[in-house]
Amino acid sequence: MTSKHRAFFGLAMVSFIAASAPAPVSAQRAPEAGVKVGNMSFVRRLVSAESVEQMGDQQYNQLLRKANAQGALLLDTSPVVQRVRKIAQDLLPHAKQWNERAAGWRWEVNVFRSPTINAFCMPGGKIAFFTGILDKLRLTDDEVAQIMGHEIAHALREHARERVAKTNIAKYGAVAVSIFFGEAAGQLASVGGGLYGLKFGRNDETEADLIGMEIAARAGYDPRAGISLWEKMSQVGKGQPPQWMSTHPSHKTRINTIRSNLPKVMPLYERAVARR
Ligand SMILES: [Zn+2]
Repeated sequence: MTSKHRAFFGLAMVSFIAASAPAPVSAQRAPEAGVKVGNMSFVRRLVSAESVEQMGDQQYNQLLRKANAQGALLLDTSPVVQRVRKIAQDLLPHAKQWNERAAGWRWEVNVFRSPTINAFCMPGGKIAFFTGILDKLRLTDDEVAQIMGHEIAHALREHARERVAKTNIAKYGAVAVSIFFGEAAGQLASVGGGLYGLKFGRNDETEADLIGMEIAARAGYDPRAGISLWEKMSQVGKGQPPQWMSTHPSHKTRINTIRSNLPKVMPLYERAVARR
């Protein structure tokens, strides 16, 4: 860590101690380090995490079967699959500190052959990348890590569970959702045409950007790649913006948020690189 970063970070004492003592093996997240985000939504508790994760698994498996039948599922031996899985393997040890359920998730990473510029992580940890986002944006590993971190962060912060709870409240009312949970759970599949197609709010997107860049930084992926990533996104989005980006903050806002949070995660990145 440079003195410049220390001055930025305001953690001179902590980083001095960290630098002089052996690095802790624990993945515990020191409360003073990294990005700042608010509490998780309370309303999400109206539906059980298990039911949303189960639905995530089911829908993911349906997609896998469908893609497989169409020859659109890249094989385990594909270098593209191996590349994306390696990045996931680096990121995932830094995920569970954000959600204790995540330690029990059966993480999976697959790549779908599709021109769509998209990637997602289901509640419960099932990750998908489309070849469209990798190829059209010519993503570097650092940029893939930012996207993966972002998608994982949606799952860790249970944004889908929150969205499902809110949709069911609108439909049935809060009391009905909490009492007739079984019935409400039956409606999960109809939310936004599937969990992977869910639209998140802008706050959720900003939260996912911040947590994603921190997870990637701790794994040794350059958080500055978030800036080049969104510059590339704005290039491809010049005509018709891809649908999944439409509810996201503007590229400019995003880049500004990433830039202003770099001082909070660059020291984590530098520490991870120094450990290699
Ligand atoms: Zn998102």
